[in-house]
Amino acid sequence: MEKLDKIEIRDLQIFANHGVFEEETALGQKFLVSATLYASTRKAGETDNLIDTIHYGQICHVIREFLIRNTFQLIEAAAEQLAKHLLVETPRLEAVDLEIKKPWAPIGLPLEYVSVQISRGWHTAYISLGSNMGDKRMYLEDAVATLEGDRCCQVLQVTDWMETEPYGGVEQDNFLNGCMELRTIYSPKKLLETLQAIESQAGRERKIHWGPRTLDLDILLYDDVIIDTKELTVPHIDMHNREFVLAPMAQLAPWRRHPLFHKTMKELYEELKQNEKRTV
Ligand code: ATP
Ligand code: MG
Ligand code: MG
Repeated sequence: MEKLDKIEIRDLQIFANHGVFEEETALGQKFLVSATLYASTRKAGETDNLIDTIHYGQICHVIREFLIRNTFQLIEAAAEQLAKHLLVETPRLEAVDLEIKKPWAPIGLPLEYVSVQISRGWHTAYISLGSNMGDKRMYLEDAVATLEGDRCCQVLQVTDWMETEPYGGVEQDNFLNGCMELRTIYSPKKLLETLQAIESQAGRERKIHWGPRTLDLDILLYDDVIIDTKELTVPHIDMHNREFVLAPMAQLAPWRRHPLFHKTMKELYEELKQNEKRTV
């Protein structure tokens, strides 16, 4: 991907009421906010038109308003919520580095400032959806609608639903499956928690592994990130062996390369079909 350009705001001064102590929220104090905004400025570079870039003047006012209207105990929370607000509200903003400095931190010792620095941004994830109990279509469509209503996510594409035979050897009803392309500011862990909350709302119970379920939402890919933890494996550990994943993925993003196998979704799908033919 093309390296993103940067727009920098340095040490914007804001008088606001954040802090753990009562005096801090009552009296207020000085904060200095720095932001590096990541976006492509190429188009604005060509057109010389403000409409094609991020208006740093407006961003400064948005930062000020946000930090004055809201009160946080921690600058960690102020930075987290401000980053989310900027990413959700600013078209073209792909990522942001934020630093909030607190030069008057009441610790009873002389210091220049304390600060918190965070980096947050939009990511692209692919999710597999499946259901084989009750009103399958409704469970899948409700899951899409819930994610569409989440400010931290943008549903970019959803495939058609396809009926598939159960996978994994448990005798059960056919599945309805599909995949979704999602833009999200959630971390992989937070995205998994969000998907699991949607599964629970659909009455999902984990009784038999690979058994019948109202709703299954799995993370297939998250950018080109590789994660190997107990709770989360990305890319999904078995996606390359599943026709009900690769068929919709070949529809959604045939060009998308698997970060470990270095093959595109279309290639993986075609290989799987070839292998099936050979074993039949
Ligand atoms: P499979 O992952 O083989 O499709 P499943 O979807 O039926 O099986 P679940 O019962 O939905 O399995 O999830 C079991 C656990 O898998 C979850 O608690 C979660 O922590 C873990 N997990 C690991 N990697 C992923 C991933 N990429 N997406 C979703 N869950 C994952
Ligand atoms: Mg699954
Ligand atoms: Mg699952």
